[in-house]
Amino acid sequence: KRTSPAQTEFYQAVEDVLESIEPLLEERPLYRKQRIIERLVEPERQIMFRVPWMDDNGDIQVNKGYRIEFNSALGPYKGGLRFHPSVNAGIIKFLGFEQIFKNALTGLAIGGGKGGANFDPKGKSDAEIMRFCQSFMSELYRHIGANTDVPAGDIGVGGREIGFLFGQYKKLANRFDGVLTGKSLLFGGSQVRKEATGYGAVYFAKYMLEGKSESLEGKTCLVSGSGNVTIYAMEKLYELGAKPVACSDSSGTLYHAKGIDLDLVKDLKEHRHERLKAYLDTHSDAEYTARDDYPSDGHTIWRYKADLAFPCATQNELTEKDAEALLSNGCIGVIEGANMPSTQAAVDLFIAEKLAYGPGKAANAGGVATSQIEMAQNAGMEHWPFEKVDARLQEIMHSIYTNAKTTAEEFGEPDNLVLGANIAGFRRVADAMIQQGVV
Ligand code: NDP
Repeated sequence: KRTSPAQTEFYQAVEDVLESIEPLLEERPLYRKQRIIERLVEPERQIMFRVPWMDDNGDIQVNKGYRIEFNSALGPYKGGLRFHPSVNAGIIKFLGFEQIFKNALTGLAIGGGKGGANFDPKGKSDAEIMRFCQSFMSELYRHIGANTDVPAGDIGVGGREIGFLFGQYKKLANRFDGVLTGKSLLFGGSQVRKEATGYGAVYFAKYMLEGKSESLEGKTCLVSGSGNVTIYAMEKLYELGAKPVACSDSSGTLYHAKGIDLDLVKDLKEHRHERLKAYLDTHSDAEYTARDDYPSDGHTIWRYKADLAFPCATQNELTEKDAEALLSNGCIGVIEGANMPSTQAAVDLFIAEKLAYGPGKAANAGGVATSQIEMAQNAGMEHWPFEKVDARLQEIMHSIYTNAKTTAEEFGEPDNLVLGANIAGFRRVADAMIQQGVV
């Protein structure tokens, strides 16, 4: 029942799960009797708060902060913080809901949560970002804890923001512990956390293609976005012999047939905080399309010919028309680094066409899995080497793929990893909730 029609993305995420788990509910009536769905769609706790801060001109600004502690059946709430002007309760609820099943699918002891603010970090000075993060944490600190709720980064929240948030938490709580993940390597961060979501999505692609007697070697790839997930997906694609030829930001799309110059994109995005268009100053043979010139029914990036597509920017960035264009250009696989980047109509098409389709819930779980490895290192006061964390990440991505695949086979739809991932995740959470009683 849609009781809050403004929360469009949340309903989209819920419908995706409910549709997939229908065969499981038929097979196991106990889930309906126990009202698992009604209990799952209602967050355990939602916190909304005022975030006042002062800008560099001395003017007072006010934003809205959120933390949704959705489900703790499997462990402490775990999920990122998003700072973006589009953030509202519906966006945070959709992300938190997805997070429950994603975290369950990793096989690790983590529950689902998400948070953020409708704050736009673009064009803000470091001092403004710091004051905002301090104000945000002045409220959030009383709700989180290393064994309660452990936030991480997401859109607009990277290493710089996590540093400011951690500093303020430590000051207010007088505790140095693993309350946030994605920390700097200087104070409790884990090797591979920065790279984990992008690397993980590419590992997932590798296992999925192997299942179809294919490989990444020599494949051309479209990778949307140019943030944390995109950059490290492109890095791993190059390492495994594939070639990313396009990426994007919220202002436009870049296509470079020779292959994207990754060092330049890193410099533009991680250090200079510039728009992607500046890439043309170095490479005049690349092609740039401004957002205003995108087709009215979709996005330029998906209209280029390539073997594989990795949507790694944001929700609903790949429409039905984009999906049709990918298919007619011979694309053989879509692997989602972002959360819910494909619209429901696009997903339906991928499944009907039996494309190698890795839904975000499964393919982008490498980030949260490595966050859990960071929590384990913090709790044990240890620091693991890069190779050990990377090997563990590969194991986890392999097990997520296998779990989604074998569950899809069990329910008679071997190519449908949406069904496989949703059922496998749901079953683990639902069984834990039943064993813990009506709480
Ligand atoms: P970043 O902030 O580092 O990068 C986001 C990228 O997407 C930027 O290039 C940004 O462009 C672009 N983008 C954001 N919003 C829009 C929009 N509305 N329209 C067009 N482009 C947009 O975020 P991440 O790389 O961390 O996150 C990307 C996706 O991956 C998100 O869906 C996130 O939820 C998901 N994810 C991230 C994880 C992580 O570990 N970081 C873990 C699992 C999932 P611009 O710079 O112009 O804003």
